Amino acid sequence: MDCIFCKIANGTIKTEFLYEDERVVAFRDINPVAPVHVLIVPKKHIESALKLEGEDFNLIGHVFMVAKKLANELGIAKDGFRIVNNCNRAGGQTVMHIHFHLLGGRDMQWPPG
Ligand code: IMP
Repeated sequence: MDCIFCKIANGTIKTEFLYEDERVVAFRDINPVAPVHVLIVPKKHIESALKLEGEDFNLIGHVFMVAKKLANELGIAKDGFRIVNNCNRAGGQTVMHIHFHLLGGRDMQWPPG
């Protein structure tokens, strides 16, 4: 499958992981929009939030556990941070493999663009 996040997750594209376990990997975004910008990516190829089913919902809970752990480790927990999932075109999704942006290190704006 020609999916860049599958290739990163399975090691075909060498990437430094901030976190890895049997279900997810986390690595820095190539085009950061905040001082801390990490992508948390399930190893399972799921296109988007719309394709989640069954056990996948436990996986997403696990993603949030990893986000909390990384937020603490990367020093953004106390001030606060944002977790973003873009879904489909109007949501701003450009890589069709579900992933969660962990953003911190600056004050976020609301509403988002
Ligand atoms: P989306 O727009 O929510 O789908 O986010 C995709 C993100 O993946 C963007 O922030 C990109 O900068 C990032 N990205 C794309 N290719 C790579 C890569 O090879 N390494 C790290 N981040 C990537």
